[in-house]
Amino acid sequence: MTYFNKDIETLPIDKLRKLQNERLQHQVQMIYNTVPFYKQQFDERGLKPSDIRTVHDLHKLPFTKKDALRENYPFGLFTVPVSDTVRLHCSSGTTGKPIVVGYTKKDIDIFSEVIARSLTAAGCQKGMKMQNAYGYGLFTGGLGLHYGAEKLEMTVIPISGGGTEKQIMLLQDFQSEAICCTPSYALTIAEMIEKKGIDLKSLNLKYAVLGAEPWTESVRAEVEAKLGVTATNIYGLSEIIGPGVSQEDFEEKGTGSYVWEDHFYPEIVDKDTGEPVPEGQTGVLVFTTLTKEAMPMMRYWTNDIASLYYDKSAKRTHVKMGPILGRSDEMLIIRGVNLFHTQVEAVLEHSTDFSSNYQLVVKREGTMDSVEVNIEINPELYKGLLKETSLEDVLQHEKIQQAHKMLTKKIKDEIGLSMKVNLASPGIIPRSEGGKLSRILDLRSK
Ligand code: ADP
Repeated sequence: MTYFNKDIETLPIDKLRKLQNERLQHQVQMIYNTVPFYKQQFDERGLKPSDIRTVHDLHKLPFTKKDALRENYPFGLFTVPVSDTVRLHCSSGTTGKPIVVGYTKKDIDIFSEVIARSLTAAGCQKGMKMQNAYGYGLFTGGLGLHYGAEKLEMTVIPISGGGTEKQIMLLQDFQSEAICCTPSYALTIAEMIEKKGIDLKSLNLKYAVLGAEPWTESVRAEVEAKLGVTATNIYGLSEIIGPGVSQEDFEEKGTGSYVWEDHFYPEIVDKDTGEPVPEGQTGVLVFTTLTKEAMPMMRYWTNDIASLYYDKSAKRTHVKMGPILGRSDEMLIIRGVNLFHTQVEAVLEHSTDFSSNYQLVVKREGTMDSVEVNIEINPELYKGLLKETSLEDVLQHEKIQQAHKMLTKKIKDEIGLSMKVNLASPGIIPRSEGGKLSRILDLRSK
């Protein structure tokens, strides 16, 4: 059994559109007949299901936003009685009250299928052991990856997030070939491996499948070097299915993640006007499900900022999305400049003076917002210098002072914003303890 499904994943675009259109018509008819919320949306606009025949008709429909899920809490957007679902999950609630999503048996099969495909694209194969360090529970990550990896006939180690010592023990004892977790947690594991002086040769890790939060090439480089893996991006959200909406191929790293377009139709729209933006430009990602049964979504406004483009030289025909810059509602506006924390992270790429442990601190002075960057110096560099002197002295050291100046300038040059950079000693800045890590400390309301 292979989950590089060539028939689907390399389908010529015109045939892919035909498939999407047929599936869309069915989804639209189903939600119109069964979900009062959607029927009302259609009726208010004088639309009938027959008005949405192709993906190009989707613009006639309004966006569905998180509020709709909250207002219809818990089961109001289901097409079927709850008794016909086989599982319920909630979003992590990163941005407020959690929302509920339901799956029929067929939905779980599709969820597992897209994960099996994603893991295949990530380099994983049947027979490999996969340490699943995504959180199990209401969050879609743990069980989602679990079922998909089993479908691919990997050997799943359902350790969940956290318990870093045990993670490392099992990596060594079980010789796991793959790990999936958040990128920030991969850094935590990598850091402990380094601290304990564990020889990478005692591990057998080859692939890391990382997602659930934004990350950049800077973190990829660090995870790959410190864990000895090829790290790829997996993206998804509960409202659409969970992780496995898109995935990067391990041989096409850095060129974007394939959206599994036969199940999820993506659009990128301007965050202010809602109008489509040209291919390759950034905007808000919007998804329409094409095959969901229990809880289809029409034009779901993810709030995630990314771009879409067709990579003609790639292995698959499905559209690729660039890395998520951040959530539009978490974008900072500092002295008129839009800022995502990933932009600061990107500046850190290739830096040997600092580690990937950073945090942005947002403050308000009067009516003006300002942002400072707390960043840890590279522990290796620090260790050498600290041997005979105090932290204060280390920070005054010429090499550190110079690195500090250079980073401050690089941030100004590359982002166009002056930020105060505060150097911290290793271990000071919060780490992921197993899940998503917030890189922003917002002191504005305090
Ligand atoms: P939430 O965190 O919104 O409560 P979920 O647990 O469903 O809900 O997480 C989905 C969200 O996580 C996405 O909308 C996106 O913001 C973020 N996310 C998931 N995967 C990635 C990824 N690979 N890169 C960046 N962000 C991601």
